[in-house]
Amino acid sequence: MTRPVDPGRLRTFGIMAHVDAGKTTVSERILFLTGVNHRLGEVHDGAATLDWTRQERERGITITAAATTCTWAGHLLTLVDTPGHVDFTAEVERSLRVLDGAVAVLDGVAGVEPQSEAVWRRADRYAVPRLVFVNKLDRPGADAGRATAMLRERLGAVPLVLQLPAGVEQAFTGVIDLLTGTAHVWGDGPADVTVRDAPADPVIATARAVLVEQLVDLDEKLGDAYLAGSELDVPELRAAVRRVTLAGRAVPVLLGSALRNIGIQPLLDAVVAYLPSPLDAVGSVAGPPDPDAPACALAFKQTTLPGGQPMTFVRVYSGTLRPGDRVAVTRTGRTQRLGRVLLVHAGTTVDVDAIGPGGIGGVVGLRDVRTGDTLTDPDVPVLLESMEFPDPVLSVVIEPATRAVADRLPVALARLVAADPTVTVGTEERTGRTVLSGMGELHLEVTIGQLLDDGVRVATGTPSVAYRETITRPVTGHVHRFSRQTGGPGQFAQVVLDLAPGEGGFRFVDATTGGRVPRSFAAATGLGVRDALAAGPLGGFPVVGVQVTLTDGLTHPQDSSEAAFRSAGARAAREMLVLAGPALLEPVMTVEIVVPAEFLGTVLGDLGARRGTVASLGERSGARTVTARVPLAELVGYATDLRGGTQGRGTFTMTPAAYGRAPAR
Ligand code: GDP
Repeated sequence: MTRPVDPGRLRTFGIMAHVDAGKTTVSERILFLTGVNHRLGEVHDGAATLDWTRQERERGITITAAATTCTWAGHLLTLVDTPGHVDFTAEVERSLRVLDGAVAVLDGVAGVEPQSEAVWRRADRYAVPRLVFVNKLDRPGADAGRATAMLRERLGAVPLVLQLPAGVEQAFTGVIDLLTGTAHVWGDGPADVTVRDAPADPVIATARAVLVEQLVDLDEKLGDAYLAGSELDVPELRAAVRRVTLAGRAVPVLLGSALRNIGIQPLLDAVVAYLPSPLDAVGSVAGPPDPDAPACALAFKQTTLPGGQPMTFVRVYSGTLRPGDRVAVTRTGRTQRLGRVLLVHAGTTVDVDAIGPGGIGGVVGLRDVRTGDTLTDPDVPVLLESMEFPDPVLSVVIEPATRAVADRLPVALARLVAADPTVTVGTEERTGRTVLSGMGELHLEVTIGQLLDDGVRVATGTPSVAYRETITRPVTGHVHRFSRQTGGPGQFAQVVLDLAPGEGGFRFVDATTGGRVPRSFAAATGLGVRDALAAGPLGGFPVVGVQVTLTDGLTHPQDSSEAAFRSAGARAAREMLVLAGPALLEPVMTVEIVVPAEFLGTVLGDLGARRGTVASLGERSGARTVTARVPLAELVGYATDLRGGTQGRGTFTMTPAAYGRAPAR
């Protein structure tokens, strides 16, 4: 039986970037150089190999996180594609969860853009070690030094400048490697690179001295060697760069131009040299990455093979997955048998007979598996920490276009929900129509496009904001008696409840004493309250920010049951919500806008009209930046309006910030 690849030889990393920074082009060049891709697809002619589905090709943005495996310098590299658009938060979260390291691609002209900031902070939360690739250094106005300074100022990072550019803008031809003192210069093709000694230049000598000094300060081991007077050779310096990168104390910065094929090989070398292997991941609940341990893997994406079979992308944390193995899905407790086990190479798959710890691949043959599920050895169930996803903020009513479609819609919707945890499907209470909810307009558009790809055409209404309700004052000592006598056994429950505004969603406390309400009846009361909170009195929206306390109750020796207490809890809560000063809440977004200075006034005026509050103003690469909080309800169509109001030059990104009080509707 084949052994899985030694975890020390695996590098699983993602490329994170602002839309347009060059993530797709960098990925393409990596796949080309690692021999997987024999044709250099350019993004703009719609032939990029990483962009799988029809939609992505059409849109020219990478929506679906695909994991692609390739080899470099005796290592197995898995490139987890992360989306650049904020609407696809779930994709970003799930990729951060399965990757060990990341390459942040910056546009050499724009530097750190709002989106890069947002993704960077998320990577901080998951403590993902990072490299930075400053791309597009061939462009007029590109400045590697400025981009590096922005890393420090905007992101609070400690950049380790490992390279200097050889030439600027049009004349940018390569990079000087400061550690080895070599110049790498590219000719016409991606593989056409010449390496020679760097010229004797005081600028290079100074930059190297600064780098070494920085490393001596940051890395204790190197510091000790330096104090002991040892010669610090290249392998030692590299080892120090690796240690400080893994510890998250610094970020190596590399330079290039993906479009002109410059800088990709050194970037791949740096991925191998400085980014973590699964052996470097500490504190995993799945235990050490031992191929012979019980299997434990995370399902992080569902997709469909060209033949139509569903495939689940998994990351293996411990043990080995092989075709025919039995695995248990922790959420359902169901044990299933794996069919094929695959490695995925940019749109093609290769059957393998083992994926070991740290490995990422596809498994075929699992039913009823969702993104975020843990798969384990049936005898040793473990639950991996599940992924955090924000709740959807925008909804749209969808209706099947034809009768035939109506029959297929439920299955297609179920598949969407399984694949994307930030998509939910519900029913509009008043009309019984189907409601699809997601993270923003583009997200909903793309999701509906996926239905169309499945051959399911739907008509859509106008997107509407996912409101919530809350309460503004407490109600105490509310008594509700639920009693039914309709022949046969009766139903009886009496509850006394307090309702108070609280933090977060919903908290239920059983404060009864003396056993007047048995524990199972108290719990049933809590379930009833939860049922009632699903639809508030103002508009049937979910009610949040509520604490409910059961203070007393009464039971009947024959007629009391969990069902009766559940009904009593629900009825009591519905009565109390009306008395507790219900209020409507709306999602408020943090919006970051970049515009040329001459449009700033227009943009600010418009934000005011949208009930926006400006949090900060700034300047970036000669443009003005605005950070504001704006209710989502006022942002429907904003992309089009902003383009219109700024002659197409304004851009913006938004992320859900909080729920705030909405004006009366
Ligand atoms: P993504 O949105 O981050 O995936 O960015 P893409 O890879 O799609 O690149 C966005 C645009 O920038 C495309 O038109 C690319 O051809 C272009 N681009 C990418 N890398 C470079 C580069 O190094 N130099 C220049 N001048 N353009 C680049």
